[in-house]
Amino acid sequence: MNTPNQTNGTNQYLVASDFDQTLSFNDSGLVLSELLGIRDFEAKVAGLAYSNLVHQGAELAYLLRHDPQFRSVRREHLIEAGRRVRLKDDVKLFADALRGDFDGNRFHFYVISAGPRLVVQSALEGIVPPENVFGTEFSHDRITGEIESVLRAPAGYGKIAVLQELEVKLKISPDRVIYVGDGSSDLYVMHHVNSRAGHTIAVSETKAIGRIAKRTVLSDDALSVLVPILEDILKWNARQIRELFTSHGLALQDWDKIRTDRLTFHKAADRIDGRQMALVH
Ligand SMILES: [Mg+2]
Repeated sequence: MNTPNQTNGTNQYLVASDFDQTLSFNDSGLVLSELLGIRDFEAKVAGLAYSNLVHQGAELAYLLRHDPQFRSVRREHLIEAGRRVRLKDDVKLFADALRGDFDGNRFHFYVISAGPRLVVQSALEGIVPPENVFGTEFSHDRITGEIESVLRAPAGYGKIAVLQELEVKLKISPDRVIYVGDGSSDLYVMHHVNSRAGHTIAVSETKAIGRIAKRTVLSDDALSVLVPILEDILKWNARQIRELFTSHGLALQDWDKIRTDRLTFHKAADRIDGRQMALVH
């Protein structure tokens, strides 16, 4: 009989990954802007982020709907932008490796991005099945093809909503969830996953995310994310991990395990006052 998190006696895990700068090098909004000849995309995003009008990560969705410079965008532009996205190395190998059976443990791999779904699906064509990709959904005008509304944007809390739906659909409890992300749009969901005994992995050195994620792994190769998954979830040792990479035709060149303590000091000019305060209290 199957217990929760088990199917046919196999332990089930959900691996959910961000897309922009987690599986790719650049934000898909930047790639789309280059395709359209829009030069000030980053300034537009910075302005929107400062206003706090939309969830972090949903800036492109907002611009696509409301910025006149993006009015010409049609489905085909989104698909073409996806083709131009530069993926990190070995994303396919990473997705394929996760599909394997790890001594009775199985991983379900999903991508949850605030970027347009069509961009992400196109970028991951032949790598991740389209039904495993969640991204911002738009409705398009039937005649002109113009974007007329944002139906759903998995940014900020929106990522949690998708994650919860997947947990129900796959019958996987929150402590069997692994979330991988790079930055600010992932903070919300990482807090959520941590608070429910799940596992979080950061793939960038951004201070805000390093503080929240349980592990940080830095590499241009997507396969590197397997290291914390195998070590922390399956309790594999370094030899087993190296053997797995070798079986996929990869030799690990450098593997530096560094625990980084970040410290900043500033001189306490009012040290004496501080002591007095301590005495008063
Ligand atoms: Mg990202």
